[in-house]
Amino acid sequence: MLFALLFGCDHGPREPEHAKPHRIVMPTINLPAGDTAPLGVIFVTVDTLRADYLSSYGHARVLTPGFDRVASGGVLFSQAISQSTTTTPSHASMFTSLYLQDHNVYSNFEALGNAPRTLGELFAGRGFRTFSIANMRHLNPEVSNLGQGIQTFVKSSNFRRADATIDTFLEWLDEGGEVPFYAWVHFADVHTPYQPPPPYDRFYYDDDERDPAKRSLKRIWPFLPEHMSDHPFFLQWLDGITDVEWVFAQYQGAVTYVDDEIGRLVDSLEERDLLHRTVIVLTADHGEALGEHDMYFVHTGLYEPTVHVPLITYFPGAGRQGVQVSEVVELVDIFPTLLEFFDIPPPHNMRGRSLWPLIRGEVPPERIAFSEHAGGNQVSLRSNRYKYVRHLRNNRLQPSYPFIEGKEELYDLKKDPSERTDLSTHLPSVVRLFRQELKNRRKDRFDLAVGEAEISNETVEVLRSLGYVR
Ligand SMILES: [Zn+2]
Repeated sequence: MLFALLFGCDHGPREPEHAKPHRIVMPTINLPAGDTAPLGVIFVTVDTLRADYLSSYGHARVLTPGFDRVASGGVLFSQAISQSTTTTPSHASMFTSLYLQDHNVYSNFEALGNAPRTLGELFAGRGFRTFSIANMRHLNPEVSNLGQGIQTFVKSSNFRRADATIDTFLEWLDEGGEVPFYAWVHFADVHTPYQPPPPYDRFYYDDDERDPAKRSLKRIWPFLPEHMSDHPFFLQWLDGITDVEWVFAQYQGAVTYVDDEIGRLVDSLEERDLLHRTVIVLTADHGEALGEHDMYFVHTGLYEPTVHVPLITYFPGAGRQGVQVSEVVELVDIFPTLLEFFDIPPPHNMRGRSLWPLIRGEVPPERIAFSEHAGGNQVSLRSNRYKYVRHLRNNRLQPSYPFIEGKEELYDLKKDPSERTDLSTHLPSVVRLFRQELKNRRKDRFDLAVGEAEISNETVEVLRSLGYVR
């Protein structure tokens, strides 16, 4: 009864509103099926990349042949939901398969505790070489404690772009020979300030972004959070810009720039004869609001633009290529899926479910994705059909979207994918079911201790410049 009400009957993928007509990019090269034992795994997280800005997820304009190529050789999950819309909490969930209420990392100023077993530790324990490269200061191990089990952790440095990130990874890869490896590669290029290098900065914009007659950026300025719109870093980035379309085009250009680098990464594996022996996971820690609900250039709230992320997996030799899975999955599911492939016993405390039944084409029991906002401001439950949001405290991070304790929102994603019509007072029976589900989830928490985060004044300043407040 619960599931029948919450899920509805149509399990087909949703089309982003702006993605008409659907533009299909046909990849020209399939990845090989593979006939050799897997050697390693590359776990890529593209910070702030929303799913619907990839061509393989239906964007009408943005070109992403790199992502599409991996999808053509692997599996694309069309409804993957992140556990949080903030960087460190979301990564902590991916690497431990725990929800925020389990590991308790609710901000970029907090560190994961030592108790949860991380992917790095589990792979290192099996003799894998382990590597991470992060491009945000708060992901550095002394702040986040996400370096557990990682032998080579290349910390964030100022504005390292995706090309230098990949070069650094490849240097490390080339030192390893036949030793199995696990690598987490993080890109920050899609985060504010969106500053793709030429020619990507003009890829989707050929007008005059400084034309005084244009007023669109000025019109949305009141919607920006003050800690962003007043920050010198932000002001410098947008100095003299009048057209908000230019800002959107910078985000789009950054997506295509990172995508080209992902294409280069795949080419580099191919050149090394490693493509058929390397597992690739492509995903994002959260998305980005680009005007929805009057929120611009932030990942506040738990609406689809911020929680719906790409998830593309490539498992050589798995036999299923170019498959699309439209069931709801969560980022905590990546962890058990990797462990199962490499035959590593999973820890007891784990929230994710292996994606293998879905990859094989089976239909396991459907699930409700659970996401939590930074600072414990909000939670959401997301079935195939509905999104339920509950505000847990009063807070005002956004001029247009205050958190109001006790407030509930309900959206029928099938009829209203843009989440414009709140049905919480119209569908009380559905709300009651979600309330009960939420009560059950919140009762069933591990509530682990967080770790010690070493935060320098410089880190605080960088976090402010990225739009995070303490
Ligand atoms: Zn992030």
